Amino acid sequence: MVDDQASRFHTPTIDPDVLESWQSYVARFAEDDSFIQQQVEQNVMVTTLDRAVGMVDKLYNWGRRSSIWPMQFGLACCAIEMISTAASRYDIDRFGAGLFRPSPRQADLMIVSGTVTKKMVPQIVRLWNQMPEPRYCLSMGACATGGGPFKEGYNVVSGIDKFLPVDVYVPGCPPTPQALLHGLMTLQRKIDGQTIRDVSWYGRAPVGEIPIPVLGPDLVDLRTVPALQARAMAAGDMPAEPEPVNEAVAADDGISEEMAERLAVWRERAAGETGS
Ligand code: SF4
Repeated sequence: MVDDQASRFHTPTIDPDVLESWQSYVARFAEDDSFIQQQVEQNVMVTTLDRAVGMVDKLYNWGRRSSIWPMQFGLACCAIEMISTAASRYDIDRFGAGLFRPSPRQADLMIVSGTVTKKMVPQIVRLWNQMPEPRYCLSMGACATGGGPFKEGYNVVSGIDKFLPVDVYVPGCPPTPQALLHGLMTLQRKIDGQTIRDVSWYGRAPVGEIPIPVLGPDLVDLRTVPALQARAMAAGDMPAEPEPVNEAVAADDGISEEMAERLAVWRERAAGETGS
């Protein structure tokens, strides 16, 4: 009876191992700020708007990353690798990206797979403009990324990123299907990090259209026209008041009347944007 009482009020001893791990845990709080942050994130549930947005982001990003539909579109030899990636051996469907869409209106991802010629760029940009947001661009292979073996060639642009915002680059000539799948997973990770707070397609500002480059004697990126004009004027190669562009360009450079008109429109817009 007496022994029972004694055991009931016995002061428990602490296991030295447990004590040591507890002490090191407490010491980390004092030494490591990121440890505190990590513990708060893991163990504290905060019911705030931030938390709610974070949960919406997770769900929203999961939906997008799991159904990236690429556009059915290829340019050169890299496209063959892209096609084999979509075949049964590599099973791109497990990423939700096996549904290649024949229309840009239904596509989320433009895989620029192959050599980008100057003749093709206007069409590529037009297709990009026709894709709805959210849209992504993957540059596949050395040609699409920087011109590849044809860099500096008279007919090839040195990288599609001169015209489109590229999200992921996949190196190689050609990249293997595994490399393309890795690029796809990289894009998924990028999507995971996005939040509805700052993605451009939910912003107040309209999502800008990229001006379609004009194929003349050489390729003209219309966004560069004001800067080129300023440089030419500074060098004295151009009169301060240039002639109306339609006749000047059409006559001097031999581009069509329609192209010249489009050039004039974009020049006006660019001048309005720069306030000049
Ligand atoms: S990167 Fe190589 S494989 Fe790909 S399109 Fe260019 S030349 Fe062909």
